[in-house]
Amino acid sequence: MQTKKTIFPSNLHAHTFYCDGKNNAEDYILTAIEKGFTSVGLSGHSFTAFDTEPCMTEQGTQEYLKELKELKEKYKNKMQVYIGIEADFYTGYNKETDKEMGLDFRIGSVHYVKDREKEEYYCVDNTPEILKYGIKNYANEDERVFIEAYFDNIVEMVHTQKPDIIGHLDLVRKFNKDLKYFDENADWYKKKVEYVLDEIAKTDAIIEINTGGMSRGWTQTPYPSISILERILAKNIPITISSDAHETKNIDFYFEESLEIARRIGFKSVKILDGGEFKDFKI
Ligand SMILES: [Zn+2]
Ligand SMILES: [Zn+2]
Repeated sequence: MQTKKTIFPSNLHAHTFYCDGKNNAEDYILTAIEKGFTSVGLSGHSFTAFDTEPCMTEQGTQEYLKELKELKEKYKNKMQVYIGIEADFYTGYNKETDKEMGLDFRIGSVHYVKDREKEEYYCVDNTPEILKYGIKNYANEDERVFIEAYFDNIVEMVHTQKPDIIGHLDLVRKFNKDLKYFDENADWYKKKVEYVLDEIAKTDAIIEINTGGMSRGWTQTPYPSISILERILAKNIPITISSDAHETKNIDFYFEESLEIARRIGFKSVKILDGGEFKDFKI
């Protein structure tokens, strides 16, 4: 008899043609059904006026929401489909916006740091060159100042916008292979992360283990790093697992290994959206 491995039967972080994904919402739902998932969610990139390329247009957002409502109804007997969005910090989405849009959940993500004087936004995860440009222009080459500003945005987002899930917490690590841009073991970095986690612990937010940086070949471990996950456990902050899929084949990329990482660190459960609420999924 073959022993069946535990899989995590859900993914709420997925991108479609409406933004920078390579499949449509129905493809993800069919893949989720095929894999025997409990639930699946879509999370298109919110319209971000100053960087329109990776995100949904304003009109596209309306179409996306309409299509998801129809698909949710169409598949209601086969799959729990949840309508979500990945809202960038600078779009300012909050609980009110969720209601207006009819969202089931919202992932809150920081992708930029805004210049202190002018209307310029420095993207942290587009290309290494753009990251370098941001560090140079925002902080006069001081990576610490730039990285700390990124984390301050997360804290502000968590308190003012109250996302259900915090997206890729240490996204600034994306291009930091071999610690090229900053030292993740430096005291200032660890201290900053500790502060961010203390603030998150005051809220209901869930932190995702996000495998998207790995599936696209940038990182060797999921976001957040193992050492941050250990601190998340120490502070009793709930976690979930998501793939940040940009195509259906990655819907559960590295999920088995991520569950193993969580188990090894000492987590007893991760959150799953089931029956309209986040429940504990024992691992
Ligand atoms: Zn993102
Ligand atoms: Zn994403």
